[in-house]
Amino acid sequence: MSLRRCVVAVDGPSGSGKSTVSRRLAQALGASYLDTGAMYRAATWAVLHAGVDVNDPEGVVKVVVDTEIVVGTDPARQTVSVNDHDVTREIRGHEVTGAVSAVSAVPAVRKLLVERQREVIAGAERIVVEGRDIGTVVAPDADLKVYLTASAAERARRRSAEIAADHAATQADLARRDLLDSTRATDPLRQAPDAIVLDSTEMDIDQVVAHLREKVDA
Ligand code: C5P
Repeated sequence: MSLRRCVVAVDGPSGSGKSTVSRRLAQALGASYLDTGAMYRAATWAVLHAGVDVNDPEGVVKVVVDTEIVVGTDPARQTVSVNDHDVTREIRGHEVTGAVSAVSAVPAVRKLLVERQREVIAGAERIVVEGRDIGTVVAPDADLKVYLTASAAERARRRSAEIAADHAATQADLARRDLLDSTRATDPLRQAPDAIVLDSTEMDIDQVVAHLREKVDA
């Protein structure tokens, strides 16, 4: 692997395997890892915790401006805190998952979090960054851009196994979030024109990671 500075952007819909693939790729490369979805989830947790309606953009922005969100960049261990309170587990709960797309659609929230994401990226030597708008907005100069996807049924199967939830309900929730995330006005989920598109429906994690490692090394 080259020792020069390297930024890998991994985008794609919910349940496409982005997190597992990005973490594993970062470990294989000896790189840092940034989960930008965790930042939007932490912001959502703060809004809910403050008792503010997630559909009130002004109220949402007021909370997020005053919130210190810290997402660790160690691919072996995820840590997320909000104003020094550990929310690593809570941000994966049903309540935050149901509300996060409303919060992440607020332009001023995105502006704030994109700035923070760029600071983290600038401070890292090598980093794998995952989200929805990394290759298009956050790091358009990334060395490698990946758009990871899988069939809706396969994504729901993986996600429901991961969170031990009902398959039909999970599929409906993923479809709802994908629709909101890809149709919002600001920085929607989009494939960068220069991204490698990988459909992982028929691939396992090892195959996807091995494929991407080859691309980084090339
Ligand atoms: O990746 P994850 O499913 O944890 O992301 C949670 C939510 O955060 C997404 O459904 C989306 O609304 C938002 N998100 C975003 N932009 C990113 C990463 C996540 O809008 N770069």
